[in-house]
Amino acid sequence: MLRQVAQGVLVHQSEFVQSNAVVVRGRAGVLLIDPGVTGSEIDCLANDLRESGQPVVAGFSTHPDWDHLLWHDRLGPAPRYGTARCAATIRDQLSDADAKDRIAAHLLETEIAGQVPLDLLGLITGLPAGTARIPWDGPQVRIIEHQAHAPGHAALLIEERGVLVAGDMLSDVLIPMLDLDGTADPIGDYLEALRLLEEVAGDVDVLVPGHGSVGGADQVRARIEQDRAYVHALRDGGDPGDPRIGPSAKPGWEWVSHVHTGQLQRLARRGERDGTPR
Ligand SMILES: [Zn+2]
Repeated sequence: MLRQVAQGVLVHQSEFVQSNAVVVRGRAGVLLIDPGVTGSEIDCLANDLRESGQPVVAGFSTHPDWDHLLWHDRLGPAPRYGTARCAATIRDQLSDADAKDRIAAHLLETEIAGQVPLDLLGLITGLPAGTARIPWDGPQVRIIEHQAHAPGHAALLIEERGVLVAGDMLSDVLIPMLDLDGTADPIGDYLEALRLLEEVAGDVDVLVPGHGSVGGADQVRARIEQDRAYVHALRDGGDPGDPRIGPSAKPGWEWVSHVHTGQLQRLARRGERDGTPR
């Protein structure tokens, strides 16, 4: 079911990790950002769009993680965009013939095993580096690219509607998940990304994270502060005291504490290996 969060901006939320697909109405059809997760959900979304007589005229994936790269025939043949780095990263991953099998194997451990359409995963057209806006006939959508959670991660600011689509940043249920694969300064990158989002915070009335609850204007700075405090604690080895982990985690989200422990361990190993401060 699509829920309107601002004029011409609708969200379709999955039960899986509260994943949010975002629909933006344009003149001749819609822009679809991070289309969703299971086949039946994407089907439901396609039905909703068909009923409203709005074809998908463009897609966008905020970053190269499987849950943001899906597509289905029923959504039609629209171009699917991402940043140049996002597109290059997924192209590189898919050049390994076993990549989709590995995703399918990973999904076997989840409640949505066998329900995720992987055929059209990751067929992303990279927008030239530095592209400021998504090329489409609708409200202007500014691309705020940064290095934080995954290579070529982008948040999107739908300027005329005051909506920030944050990708896997600024969630109320997931802690910041750093990109620890082959990056030189994941902590510094994440803090810089939060600073970039803070620059536009004053223009945001509605915040749509890739996973979790849609927030109002007050939530933008609150979540930036919360994420910054978490990253600082990771850096300094302190107790994050973060409501998203430990005993205060919401039921069903206890696994996020394991993500936290894993990040602590990986950062400690990096520090031991190259002697750089965390
Ligand atoms: Zn995600």
